[in-house]
Amino acid sequence: MTVAAQPLIRHDWSQDEVRALFELPFNELLFRAQTVHRQYFNPNEVQISTLLSIKTGACPEDCAYCPQSAHHGTDLEKEKLMAVAKVVEEAKAAKARGATRFCMGAAWRNPHERDMPYVLEMVGQVKALGMETCMTLGMLSQSQAQALANAGLDYYNHNLDTSESFYGKIITTRTYSDRLQTLAHVRDAGMKVCCGGIMGMGETLDDRVGLLVQLANLPHHPESVPINMLVAVKGTPLENQDKLDPFDFIRTIAVARIMMPASHVRLSAGREGMNEQTQALCFFAGANSIFYGEKLLTTPNPEADRDMQLLNKLGIRPEQSQECRSEEEQEEALLQAMEEHAYRDVFYDAAKVAGGA
Ligand code: SF4
Repeated sequence: MTVAAQPLIRHDWSQDEVRALFELPFNELLFRAQTVHRQYFNPNEVQISTLLSIKTGACPEDCAYCPQSAHHGTDLEKEKLMAVAKVVEEAKAAKARGATRFCMGAAWRNPHERDMPYVLEMVGQVKALGMETCMTLGMLSQSQAQALANAGLDYYNHNLDTSESFYGKIITTRTYSDRLQTLAHVRDAGMKVCCGGIMGMGETLDDRVGLLVQLANLPHHPESVPINMLVAVKGTPLENQDKLDPFDFIRTIAVARIMMPASHVRLSAGREGMNEQTQALCFFAGANSIFYGEKLLTTPNPEADRDMQLLNKLGIRPEQSQECRSEEEQEEALLQAMEEHAYRDVFYDAAKVAGGA
């Protein structure tokens, strides 16, 4: 039997080349994406993360899509930094129900030095539970990134959101190069990178191309690439933004899969507004990671049992992390929970969780 060679991991994508991928006939694009996907991943598994907001609202940044920004008149309830013990309690509850990665988000421009000891303690204690850890805290200095890595943080989420040319229409309180600098600090500290963007903010096809070129041409591809669909929240500047055609969203997933074949492409915010068929096409196009829970940060996420029903219909299983694969107890708990469709109560109700610092 001949085994197809894995496509090369490339860092030299051109705008024209990527635009040509977007312009392929839909079936051709999805076939190519699925072919690439199978060379790196089991096509019938998705990675599932649980997300907790450790500090909600009152963010000084002005991201036009975000209900947590202090610049917008949303009615989000603000919350101070959560106590370490409470975070650990939530992580334990998530682990007991089968979650393998615990993501913690704080609505900050950047962490203050006075907050760092608490944040580091959270990382250490969640890590000690045997879970993968991820945080999103805004911009980091090199020393903060190193401190988080030393505490055991596995992933750092820091999204580029869109192309460099469209960025200024969405955020004015920081620059694209600020973002790239934090990503470099995270890499230099030895952590894995979670970095993606949001579709449907009024960007052009060339902006979507520009974002993916930027991500894929980084010195290392982000291990996790969240592709979000805008959730137009009342009170934000994008509340009346026209909806993106779902086919354009699916195409973006497929092109991301082809360009970053070994990365987990995450179907993130905006799943609430998608029907099952659109989500299924996203999985076929190469999405293989989701956030699980009733709310994703501050935006609605499909109800947990509906997620499990869909995964069951599609014959898709939750992927276990390498660290947890040997832990039979966890796997058993997860499979049992799937059978019982018990996920609504099983995972943390992320109803209060934040947006994507
Ligand atoms: S996306 Fe993050 S940085 Fe931007 S306003 Fe929301 S919480 Fe703040």
